[in-house]
Amino acid sequence: MSTLRFKALELAFSRHSHTITPPSTKISDYFGSLVFDRKTMKEFLSKEAYTSVLESIEFGKPVEREMADQIAAGLKSWALSKGATHYTHWFQPLTGATAEKHDAFFEPIGDGTAIEKFSGDALVQQEPDASSFPSGGIRSTFEARGYTAWDPSSPAFVLSSGAGFTLCIPTVFVSYTGESLDYKAPLLKSLAALDKAAVDVCAYFDRSITKVNASLGIEQEYFLVDAALYNARPDMVLTGRTLFGHSAARDQQLEDHYFGSIPERVYAFMLDFETECIKLGIPLKTRHNEVAPSQFECAPIYEEINLAIDHNQLLMDTMSKVARRHDLVVLLHEKPYAGINGSGKHNNWSMITNTGKNLLSPGKTPKNNLMFLTFFATTLKALHENADLLRASIASVNNDHRLGANEAPPAIISAFLGTSLTEVLDEIEHSRVTSSKKKDLPGALGLNIPKIPQILLDNTDRNRTSPFAFTGNKFELRAVGSSANSAAPMTVLSSIVAAQLQLFKKEVDSMIKKGEKKEVAIMKVIRTYVKESKNIRFEGNGYSHEWEVEAAARGLSNIKTTPKALDALLTEKTISLYEKLGVFSHRELHARHEVQLETYTKKLQIEARVMNDMVNNMIIPTTINYLNQLITSVKGLMDIGMGDKMANPQKELISEISEHLAAVKKNADDMLEERKLANKVEDAREKAIHYDEKVKPYFETIRYHVDKLELLVDDTIWPLPKFRELLFIK
Ligand code: ADP
Ligand code: MG
Repeated sequence: MSTLRFKALELAFSRHSHTITPPSTKISDYFGSLVFDRKTMKEFLSKEAYTSVLESIEFGKPVEREMADQIAAGLKSWALSKGATHYTHWFQPLTGATAEKHDAFFEPIGDGTAIEKFSGDALVQQEPDASSFPSGGIRSTFEARGYTAWDPSSPAFVLSSGAGFTLCIPTVFVSYTGESLDYKAPLLKSLAALDKAAVDVCAYFDRSITKVNASLGIEQEYFLVDAALYNARPDMVLTGRTLFGHSAARDQQLEDHYFGSIPERVYAFMLDFETECIKLGIPLKTRHNEVAPSQFECAPIYEEINLAIDHNQLLMDTMSKVARRHDLVVLLHEKPYAGINGSGKHNNWSMITNTGKNLLSPGKTPKNNLMFLTFFATTLKALHENADLLRASIASVNNDHRLGANEAPPAIISAFLGTSLTEVLDEIEHSRVTSSKKKDLPGALGLNIPKIPQILLDNTDRNRTSPFAFTGNKFELRAVGSSANSAAPMTVLSSIVAAQLQLFKKEVDSMIKKGEKKEVAIMKVIRTYVKESKNIRFEGNGYSHEWEVEAAARGLSNIKTTPKALDALLTEKTISLYEKLGVFSHRELHARHEVQLETYTKKLQIEARVMNDMVNNMIIPTTINYLNQLITSVKGLMDIGMGDKMANPQKELISEISEHLAAVKKNADDMLEERKLANKVEDAREKAIHYDEKVKPYFETIRYHVDKLELLVDDTIWPLPKFRELLFIK
């Protein structure tokens, strides 16, 4: 009897849902109660200090050191009033997780007493001993030190963890030489570039636009599993996914989970973590069951992109912690279970001006439509020119399981527009753009600038198979993995659109200089972009084989695995794009490339090791035990003289099981040898490719035979909780 599995099952089956009592029945009563938001700042800061923070948020104006002392003092009073004893800079290193190093406010003053202290210096900059974060060689070559520096555009918050409270200050993380070691620093640089480029283009239409913010709404998918069952599976604990496990007879084929009624225990968990998130100012709005059993989704209302990403990082952390209170574990892995849907993180992206206009929202007037078309066509053109870079930004060992499968967008980047907009663009492409000499007005200009019907806003088609779908007033990047830091793809999107907007302006300006009328010049460039980016548009079924064939004929990339997808980081085009925008230096790109390759290799290394361990210590011994039972049975039948006739089923089982057992052993041993070879490869890219092409294929083979054994071996001795037990939460 498998004691651990059955003990875990007993625990899992005996769970009850907790009662959760949020601070108030009205969510608005406690929304942001743990955030140093504008309202709180007004209360705790002097007018001067408050203005200085606002100017920093809105115009990127640096906060003076003296002012920082005042702000720190206000922040400390507020944090102490919330029960915080410690503070930390809160940052996002290239591990993908968030990092914190707590320091107490407490400081002895030399006479045996102590005070609570927090200076401007401690707010603005810290030097964590951060030498163990991935840096791609940046720090080991130059300086071991890494600095965190305050990001005033994301408000400080108080994080509760069990018993204690800590003041968290969102920061960037950079090296001594100023190179980015995190996700936030390049994101902020790309957002500044986008802001500038977009404002410059907006000037053609509306001079009151002085600021353009990208906005982002992140839909987060995840799985839940009972903690006892999870703990009984070394693969889930160590790799976040099941490396073995035969599919359950029933999983998602009845399509009865999607939007289904939420189990009470899960509901209690949701309410609990949502309450924590609401206090942290995360505007969570939506929750529902997803397609696979035990798969769920939550989504906040969209926010300014930097804040939205901080909030998503905080959300992932919070939900994982809160789940434990409910004896549940959140699986953020992109593919925890083979054979059923994996999890993504849809990134809904748009650009919004200080005047409140969404630049990706079609308007009522020809002028507004021209503005919309400008940003729309520029985004498509940017995507067309830089599809590989966007592909690289969503590449990870986990997401490789999703991309290209028939449940998630393919590794081919394309954009879906819906019928109405496709017609509009087709019309633009085929209409004649007359020159300004005819001196008419836009709309009636003979340009055939189509008036986009207002109805479009809520009438867009849906296409779940497209990686980049336009949904009325925003693009939805659907290919991002569930565990990813969205800053990576959002930095790319902001950068490529910024660069394209700069080119757009250059082209329009040069036409105007040559005497072209502004509207005509704009329309002409739009028309060129529409034509040139046509290949990236696809309205059909992105999961189909036909699309793969057609995409190949169109010359679109279809890079299925991470090590090769990452090549896009180091092309001359990418390097020059980023250097011009000031987002990444050549060195930073190299470092990031290196870090991502290393992470890829290490994750496969861990999976392979766990597989070997589980095969040797769990699968093989269990199978031999069962074989021995069968052999004893055969021997017994022989003893009583019935061996010839009656032992046939046992004998058949013995040979069937022995064959799978031999295959498991052989492939596991071969994989180990192949891994030794892979580990000898020096070059990071070659090594990752070796792991991908030579080691990874063993996973499938070993798993196939282990899963067959799972079906053949006595259920009572099988050591690993099965899919049917993991996937249906009581
Ligand atoms: P879906 O039907 O795809 O699930 P939802 O209506 O749930 O879409 O919205 C998905 C996300 O898109 C939400 O986070 C929402 O706030 C966000 N969103 C809505 N409008 C915008 C916008 N203009 N820019 C960015 N995100 C937006
Ligand atoms: Mg959704």
